[in-house]
Amino acid sequence: MAADEDLLIGAAKRERRNRRSGRNLILALVVAAVCAVIGWALVFRVRGFVKAIPFLPLGTVTSWLLIFGIAAFVIAGLIVAGALVLANPRKRWGDPVAGACPACGSWTLRQDTVAPGSGSLRNAPKGVVTLCDTKGCAYASANVTTASRAG
Ligand SMILES: [Zn+2]
Repeated sequence: MAADEDLLIGAAKRERRNRRSGRNLILALVVAAVCAVIGWALVFRVRGFVKAIPFLPLGTVTSWLLIFGIAAFVIAGLIVAGALVLANPRKRWGDPVAGACPACGSWTLRQDTVAPGSGSLRNAPKGVVTLCDTKGCAYASANVTTASRAG
């Protein structure tokens, strides 16, 4: 089915573009920064504020704030670590493929398994896409392993 192949090639090119631009990494770092700010606020700001209010069960409230704050810091750290491993723009899309590109003749083919919309679209196709990494070369081919179910 040509439609499936077009869909997979489109998804692969989007993935590669996102990685090159580092957009995934920037997004992850923004989320991590927000988590760190929340953690910092909970641990250092809100806690002092709550302590200033009389007649509050301080022990419970402040220890929970501390736990949530530390959890937010840990999440921030995990996001940064995960982003650096998964979304590193220096890590190129796909795995190198042996052989010359049929379009430009360079040994710059790379391939990766693509499953667009996995999770959200249950009838989305899955397959292995081969793209050429040479600038200006538009060679792309897809090998559908799981065809999309019609309907
Ligand atoms: Zn090429």
